[in-house]
Amino acid sequence: MKSHHYVGRFAPSPTGPLHIGSLLTAVASYVDAKSHNGKWLLRMEDIDPPREMSGAADSILQTLEHYGLRWDGDVLFQSRQHSRYEAAVQQLLASGKAFYCTCSRSQILAASGSSSYPGTCRQRHQPPDQPFAIRLQVQDREIHFEDGLQRYQRCNLQQQGGDFVIKRKEGLYAYHLAVVLDDALQGVTHVVRGSDLLDATFCHWYLQDVLELPHPQYAHLPVIVNAEGQKLSKQTFAEPVPLADPGPYLLYCLQALGQSPPDSLRGASAAAILEWSCEHWQMQRVPHQRCIPQQTA
Ligand SMILES: [Zn+2]
Repeated sequence: MKSHHYVGRFAPSPTGPLHIGSLLTAVASYVDAKSHNGKWLLRMEDIDPPREMSGAADSILQTLEHYGLRWDGDVLFQSRQHSRYEAAVQQLLASGKAFYCTCSRSQILAASGSSSYPGTCRQRHQPPDQPFAIRLQVQDREIHFEDGLQRYQRCNLQQQGGDFVIKRKEGLYAYHLAVVLDDALQGVTHVVRGSDLLDATFCHWYLQDVLELPHPQYAHLPVIVNAEGQKLSKQTFAEPVPLADPGPYLLYCLQALGQSPPDSLRGASAAAILEWSCEHWQMQRVPHQRCIPQQTA
């Protein structure tokens, strides 16, 4: 008998230590899973070594532990999943749904007048002699889904982006492919993540259709932006959250997520704050917008 119907996850990239923006996503996905008596899995999305920072994966895991955000089961590292990704790429090539593409960015721009892929290499079903990416052919049809927070979403990928890359020229697997395969492998039923990934969800939805994988339910949270309107990241010099005294940072996240933690939780332990959060969590109170400005204390 299945004891868990809800399987959620948090999937950071080890590009830097955990900052308040990624903590917000961790808290929301954790509390939503636990308030449904579900599992909360952890996946390290380490498939892009040039963007990664040495020690960041360990630092993220240590910070989550200090914040009381305990994951279920073992951490899944994408860097150890390459054979599964390659098998899917080969399957898509063999079925004619994916093709070899030798186009450069400037060739795509010149052929289409936009960054949308114009379908130039669609007939390339044999590996060429020059460096190539592998793209998934998209059909001219509308994809639509109901997002838990951002409501009804629709997109025709052929008109917006076109055939997309599943394996890059450098030999790295594309995020879209890895995330879809791993959500399916881990049995993820609910994806709670930042709205900066809302547009990517159309590619994920499409890949799930092509690979005959189930669609999880998606909810895209508002992302915290700095005074310049940029998402917090290593590139925008977001500060790491401190290991000591997690309480104020957890309370900040809950308030940003539209919840109303009582004053009595000030000074409380991370465990006590998370326990209150799981008992009182209301997803419908999370702001239904893509961005929220960072509040300074
Ligand atoms: Zn091409």
